[in-house]
Amino acid sequence: MLDERPWAEGTVPGMAARSGSEFLDRLASARVHVEIQGQTLTGGVAGHPAFRNVVRSYAELYDMQHDPAHRDVLTYASPATGDPVATSFLVPRTPEDLAKRSQAFKLWADRSLGMLGRTPDYLNSALMALASAADWFAQADPAFGGNLRRYYEQVREQDLLCTHTLIPPQANRAVSGSQQAGGALMAHIVREDDNGIVIRGARMLATSGPFADELLVFPSTVLRNTPEDKQYSFACAIPNDAPGLRYLAREPLDYGLPRHDHPLGSRFEESDAVVVFDDVHVPYERCFVLGDPELCNGFYTRTSAVVHMTHQVIARTTAKTSYILGLVSLLAQAIGIEQFQHVQADIAEVITTLETLRAFSRAAEADAEVNEFGVLTPAWPPLNTARNLYPRLSQRFPEILRKLGASGLMATPTQADVAGPAAADIETYLQSATLGGADRVKLFRLVWDTCISAFAGRQALYEYYFFGDPVRMAGAYLASYDREPYKAAVSAFLDRS
Ligand SMILES: Cc1cc2nc3c(=O)[nH]c(=O)nc-3n(C[C@H](O)[C@H](O)[C@H](O)COP(=O)(O)OP(=O)(O)OC[C@H]3O[C@@H](n4cnc5c(N)ncnc54)[C@H](O)[C@@H]3O)c2cc1C
Repeated sequence: MLDERPWAEGTVPGMAARSGSEFLDRLASARVHVEIQGQTLTGGVAGHPAFRNVVRSYAELYDMQHDPAHRDVLTYASPATGDPVATSFLVPRTPEDLAKRSQAFKLWADRSLGMLGRTPDYLNSALMALASAADWFAQADPAFGGNLRRYYEQVREQDLLCTHTLIPPQANRAVSGSQQAGGALMAHIVREDDNGIVIRGARMLATSGPFADELLVFPSTVLRNTPEDKQYSFACAIPNDAPGLRYLAREPLDYGLPRHDHPLGSRFEESDAVVVFDDVHVPYERCFVLGDPELCNGFYTRTSAVVHMTHQVIARTTAKTSYILGLVSLLAQAIGIEQFQHVQADIAEVITTLETLRAFSRAAEADAEVNEFGVLTPAWPPLNTARNLYPRLSQRFPEILRKLGASGLMATPTQADVAGPAAADIETYLQSATLGGADRVKLFRLVWDTCISAFAGRQALYEYYFFGDPVRMAGAYLASYDREPYKAAVSAFLDRS
């Protein structure tokens, strides 16, 4: 079992739980190839205006691991060295372990108001579950199980930040990825040599890719592989600055404006990038599945990785919903609209979502069971329900904030105005029932950045799609849900005389 083994052969002990400056130092020396706004970066990502604020937000998370107020929750003793490593790597064996993982997720998620989707704990949780299920991977080749274990240990001991890329480019969804443009578009194995594979093509869409340390090229959580997809059916890990790997980053939504003006975009703009593989060589020891559609289809479910990832996700979506509840309550209070019944109904809707998520999370932990690999695994039905509901429920938040904020969301002068010649007008004419003009503008700019700005638009898109297409997720839910007892109960009723 993981964590009870001696230090894995060939794994280099690292620095254990990193601080923010250790994260930034490593990034400073990385030569990640990023194409952005007509510019080619081959390093220097941490200082680039598109990334410098978000990497500082990530650095704050790493610093929390060393903060005496948080370190007991955010770290545990490495089974290999005894040094503190991140709690998201902890293999849960007991309810206390599971609770500790959950508390650690919450601490980080609260810090970013749930706006950072790819904090390291998301993929650390996947790696923990995958490595624990190493024996399942070994059925194809014993080497794969060992590779996964060693890779998990390396990421844990060096506290590396992983991003991942799962799905084919969006060229023609009427055919499978392997049939698009004669199969040339989707990342695939073009050849093998003595010590590894060579990948060519592209994949969508690595959030936080440009500033990660490692890229996980994993199967989709939703799309199924068929035998024709053999060449495309693999899982491996690549250092982010590997030769031939490049990121096509989208236009940044952090415009370098003061935090007052863009309170969220200036902190939590995570970046998303298409990943291009220009004959990227991956050594065999970094490969976990090769040419095996069946293993790819069971990758997340047979290993419980999807459960542990969703356990992290529900902590983040709960944090975001808590933030929305605080925000909408301050907004309603500020302009004296809480006595209106439809306003109460909207706020109650946010409360309902929040309490629904909390109940799912609690049920999942209370009904956790040890899986076949000895890992205490939260119950899947509540988490699966949460992951099917949230893409839809979360779309209501910006709608509610826009409806309740109304013209106030456009009466939002900038910091320069608040401190400039218009200061007196702002203080007088933009005052609210509970706030002076400057404070009201500050609050409303936060509402604006949550429901109207480009940052807000991207957040809504993210919540809808980041775990896969909700339509196909619902289809998978239906296919896996045992409805026979329900059908039998109705049939029995029909048969009653
Ligand atoms: C902000 C953001 C961040 C993301 N971050 C990551 C990341 O970090 N890593 C990663 O790997 N991926 C990431 N993704 C990608 C995400 O996994 C996909 O968006 C998701 O799987 C949907 O795929 P798609 O975007 O290609 O949509 P498409 O599959 O192209 O779907 C487009 C539309 O067509 C419909 N459609 C298409 N095909 C079918 C079908 N067969 N049956 C029914 N309906 C169909 C869909 O329902 C949808 O309405 C991210 C996406 C977003 C928007």
